[in-house]
Amino acid sequence: MTTIPWGGMNGPRTYEHLLIGGTWRDAYGDGAIEMPDPATGGVFAVVPAGDERDVDAAVRAARAALDGPWAALTSSQRGTLLYALAERIAAEAPELAKLESADTGRPLRDVSGEVARTADWLRFFAGMADKVVGRSIEVTGDMSAYTIPQPVGVVAAIIPSNSPLNLTSWKLGPALAAGNTIVLKPSEVAGVSLLELGRLACEVGFPPGVVNVVTGTGPVVGPAIAAHPGIDKISFTGSAEAAQAIMAASSSTLKRLTLECGGKSPNIVFDDADLESALNMAVFAAFKSSGQSCSLGSRLLLHNAIREEFTAELVRRTALVRVGRPLDPTSDIGPQASAAQLAKTTRYIESGKASASLAFGGGTPPDEDLGRGFYVQPTVFVDVDPTSAIAQEEIFGPVLSVLGFDDEAQARRLANSTRYGLTAAVWTRDLGRAHRMARGIEAGLVTLNCYRPVSWMLPYGGMKLSGLGRENGVDAIYDYTEPKTVVYHHGPEPLADPYRLLDR
Ligand code: NAD
Repeated sequence: MTTIPWGGMNGPRTYEHLLIGGTWRDAYGDGAIEMPDPATGGVFAVVPAGDERDVDAAVRAARAALDGPWAALTSSQRGTLLYALAERIAAEAPELAKLESADTGRPLRDVSGEVARTADWLRFFAGMADKVVGRSIEVTGDMSAYTIPQPVGVVAAIIPSNSPLNLTSWKLGPALAAGNTIVLKPSEVAGVSLLELGRLACEVGFPPGVVNVVTGTGPVVGPAIAAHPGIDKISFTGSAEAAQAIMAASSSTLKRLTLECGGKSPNIVFDDADLESALNMAVFAAFKSSGQSCSLGSRLLLHNAIREEFTAELVRRTALVRVGRPLDPTSDIGPQASAAQLAKTTRYIESGKASASLAFGGGTPPDEDLGRGFYVQPTVFVDVDPTSAIAQEEIFGPVLSVLGFDDEAQARRLANSTRYGLTAAVWTRDLGRAHRMARGIEAGLVTLNCYRPVSWMLPYGGMKLSGLGRENGVDAIYDYTEPKTVVYHHGPEPLADPYRLLDR
């Protein structure tokens, strides 16, 4: 097991083992996955290619922990362990951030804040552990009931390539706080930080089997998780296509599912808005995380009265966005995570050139230092047909489509015109209009005069193809429980025979 601190390296960072039942074990197969180095086009890391036998071993270990040492801990003790994990992450945050930045290609500046906040996420759920309580219900005068929020059981968390550590904390936090055990499956594109997270979980003293990490490809490990009868719940973040495959493959066991998928979020600016704030956030929202964010403001809907002026300034500022190496602290955006994602982004850019007008970007950044990394320019299209691919589909790259509207009704129609419904932003000084739009837009999160302040405190998740269920906020933890209702009779009289058999 490679350990942090992570300094310079010769050749790819190599991880030889999976974490199963508290020990670092060889995978059953002898295959390996080469994870790309987005900045150079080379290989960043090599991890074992787990398969269904490894999933099975991890599930057995998770089940044994569930029925053994983990069940013996009180909820407060579980919270204390989660808190300790949060502190270890905070202590190693600078190294973890460098690791994850190099792995995902996202700029260190973005990732540093996110890794630090990962500790906050775990602290929040650590504090929740002993506050998961049932209800007492008086049914009749002599019959009452109480509910017990029991752990669901073994939870599998399937994690995407863009924010491995942070998005894992959204799942691991509530799952463990509620008393479940977990099998983590990182993306095969980026996510070695989850092996490091496994190391930290062992170090702080989680009982063996509570946290397991199985690396492997989506097509092999994913279906093995979805079909495994010993897994009670899957908490997934990734594309809608993979979510659909999971839903289908897990239907035979009726697994509990939380699905966090993609988006095509509308960022809507009315002519009475604070345009300076809207501009600042429009550029950031369109290109943050090198475009690899589920809540990218990838559709900018501008009131036609301000469209030309706003677009001109947006393009001027987009030209100032620095594309650079992930670990360069001056980079605003880095490369795409993989060659496949670069090819996908490039395909959409080409389709945009055929269906709309290119206002900025559309190619490889001119900086020759960036060499053979998976870089693409931040790109802005105007005169976009609302039914075209660049206006409808999630690209997951730094590509912005600008559309115009005349009034509130048209803005709402355009906002709701895609298959997605994750986030939306509305910029206006008209309070009534802001709240009317918030109610009318089909999205799990609507921000008014700000852009997606994601937090452990705020329920997050999507409508339509953007997902199923919500993560974060105080209620999320109950999605990791099975409510059991216990009814009891406490009346002084014996229960009468409804059939009156003795009267016969
Ligand atoms: P992806 O769907 O390619 O992969 C996500 C995970 O699913 C990976 O671990 C992958 O190995 C696994 N997987 C792939 N096929 C599978 C299958 N058939 N069965 C089970 N698992 C399978 O997504 P990605 O490229 O890693 O991430 C990008 C996507 O994630 C985008 O759509 C983005 O919007 C979404 N995302 C959503 C949120 C959110 O909170 N809603 C956050 C981040 C990313």
